[in-house]
Amino acid sequence: MANAYQTMETAELDAQIALLEQEAERLRAQGLSLDMARGKPSQEQTDLSRGMLDCVDATCDLTDEGLAADNYGVPDGLPSARRLAAELLQTDSANVLVIGSSSLNLMYDLVCHAYTHGIAGNEPWCHQGEVKFLCPSPGYDRHFRVTEHFGITNVPVAMGVDGPDMDEVERLVASDASIKGIWCVPKYANPTGVTYSDDVVRRLAALEPAAPDFRIFWDNAYMVHDLYDEGDELLNIFDALAEAGHDDMAYVFGSTAKVTFPSSGMAFVASSAANMREVRDAFAVMRVSPEKISQLAHVRFLKDAAGVRAHMRKHAAIVRPRFELVEQKLTDGLGGLDCATWTHPRGGYFVSFDGPEGSAKAIVALAAELGVKLTGAGATWPYGKDPKDTNIRIAPTYPSLDELSAALDVFVLAVKLVSARLARSER
Ligand code: PLP
Repeated sequence: MANAYQTMETAELDAQIALLEQEAERLRAQGLSLDMARGKPSQEQTDLSRGMLDCVDATCDLTDEGLAADNYGVPDGLPSARRLAAELLQTDSANVLVIGSSSLNLMYDLVCHAYTHGIAGNEPWCHQGEVKFLCPSPGYDRHFRVTEHFGITNVPVAMGVDGPDMDEVERLVASDASIKGIWCVPKYANPTGVTYSDDVVRRLAALEPAAPDFRIFWDNAYMVHDLYDEGDELLNIFDALAEAGHDDMAYVFGSTAKVTFPSSGMAFVASSAANMREVRDAFAVMRVSPEKISQLAHVRFLKDAAGVRAHMRKHAAIVRPRFELVEQKLTDGLGGLDCATWTHPRGGYFVSFDGPEGSAKAIVALAAELGVKLTGAGATWPYGKDPKDTNIRIAPTYPSLDELSAALDVFVLAVKLVSARLARSER
């Protein structure tokens, strides 16, 4: 469908471009320096967890159920931390490891383990010739970088309104034994905010891959990050796998990075009992034992899943107005022009924006010129290559509301000017 600029008379379009250029000059003169690039909580949000720092002090008991947090040992993580993680992931704590402060790090370690040593008795991926991963796109750039780093071929598959294109995923994994995995952010996906439907979760769990060592990397990073009291419901992947008789097919990850402190949170991984035996053995070579003082502080502060949800409601009160501002500014600025679409997430950290074909790089560059840093165009696709150059990830949490408002004015102007110039160049 043609957008408003494409249907304008040329004289009117030229006049519009001149007006938009004047507006760009006015914004440039403000000398803004704003950042809407990365999904980081704001200072107000991290301040919510300062109380956690008082939960462990020089006088307190440093044991958890009789196990020492202040020494080596307890390789699976503290029992109370594992219980908390298991409650969040809705699985048995016997199959959960709480380890380190970064779930991405755990994902890397498991890709690395499969690559160098192989999983479940299969040849290491590095000895199997070309190895591929499916990458629902737009998706999380750091996932794609992990597999790219090992020379694994990242294969984009379309991301729809209820998850990855399952017809395509089923067709590919059933026919190609070199496909070893798929990256999934099943709830409030990065960047679309989509939560996988029950049908998509069931179809993923029921996949019949040609590769015996195929794994779903189920990164449930935003499982508790609802913006509204009524959050999206995600089907329990462990139940779906059990129903399909495929207990070993997924590694499930989570962390408190955006619950307490990014990079000082508590990360966890869960899978079947058989997989976790192998993961434990691999991790035992990589580390003596996890950092448990932080685990102790976390469980004393958050207590249980209900405690986490109560804490997340405080985050939501800070974050929700930012997401609503994005929706309002984009609707007011771009509604009716038919030159863009964007997502309307009910949780998570991002809004995914699509402009006209061939516009994203130019919009990001123009916004940067006008003082607003956005996530690089293409970042949401494997190898940074968005085939239609349309997608931009908007990360509204970090700036203050005033800063975000100013940044969105620049963004809207950049979208209009680039769209208008593109329409002019088509004549
Ligand atoms: N997974 C997703 C989907 C993310 O968006 C992020 C951070 O933005 C992470 C993982 C990083 O988590 P962690 O800090 O636990 O490594």
